[in-house]
Amino acid sequence: MSASTNAGPAGAVPNLTLNNGVTIPQLGFGVFQIPPEETRIAVSEALAAGYRHIDTAAAYRNEAGVGAAIAESGIPRDEIFLTTKLRNGEQGSPRAAFEASRKALGVDSIDLYLIHWPVPSQGLYTQAWRELETMYAQGQIRAIGVSNFLPEHLEELLANSTVVPAVNQIEVHPTFQQSSLAQKSRSHGIAVQAYSPLGQGKDLSGDVVTGLAAKYGATPAQIVIAWHLGLGNIVIPKSVTPARIRENLAAAAITLTAEELAAVCALETGERIGADPALAAFTQM
Ligand code: NDP
Repeated sequence: MSASTNAGPAGAVPNLTLNNGVTIPQLGFGVFQIPPEETRIAVSEALAAGYRHIDTAAAYRNEAGVGAAIAESGIPRDEIFLTTKLRNGEQGSPRAAFEASRKALGVDSIDLYLIHWPVPSQGLYTQAWRELETMYAQGQIRAIGVSNFLPEHLEELLANSTVVPAVNQIEVHPTFQQSSLAQKSRSHGIAVQAYSPLGQGKDLSGDVVTGLAAKYGATPAQIVIAWHLGLGNIVIPKSVTPARIRENLAAAAITLTAEELAAVCALETGERIGADPALAAFTQM
């Protein structure tokens, strides 16, 4: 991966180059748990603030709101990096699922399409990946990747496929960093995309983070986002609050020192918020 600075409206947000040459803004906007009827407004706020990278999923049931906001924004489609994800229950029919997402979003192509969870109990993710490889080769998707893949799932995929995933989107925040999984992903050229990057708000109150916030005249969320950027993570905080949407984007202007990055890394507790990907089997998603 290499980095360059995005000279567009997002100002200081760096672009990273994925393993297939496609560039992605390192700081994006996540929409998990935003109700469908509120999503258009939240994404419109984010685009107006300057975000050019939106992360949704079929399972979030809010792709239509994302698509409406993109259409209404008037921003050229190729200036917005758009990610969506294959539902667990549709790993047996990725092409139909992709077409449904594309229709809901109202777009011709998707920038990044991810297998949302491995669901090892289904035994379908490698087969689904091969279908994603075909769709990628046909040009409907600019990059393909995975989410919630543990080392054993990555090994299985890499041994039985030809395209190396562009990203692994995993839970990463100061108290749960999955550093060995992140390192393993990077060792294969797979970028780490941090989900629940603020610990869903739970990682914002400790002394280390609030101390750095005071030092930089920043908010705790900005410090945590700056920590992700400093580690090289792609980061996708979610908010429905306009001031926070803007505040989170402005974190791209903060550069923490190596010692400060290490101080936040020392906050690891090993406690995840989300499901364990080895066990998660919610096929309704
Ligand atoms: P985040 O870590 O982004 O936290 C979101 C929470 O933090 C919300 O309650 C939000 O409140 C609050 N918050 C946001 N900004 C601030 C701020 N500046 N100050 C204080 N509180 C703040 O959690 P998510 O789980 O939403 O993760 C982000 C994105 O990652 C998701 O939206 C989704 O796109 C992706 N994701 C992917 C998963 C996967 O399996 N691949 C799983 C989970 C998430 P409010 O909205 O009220 O402002």
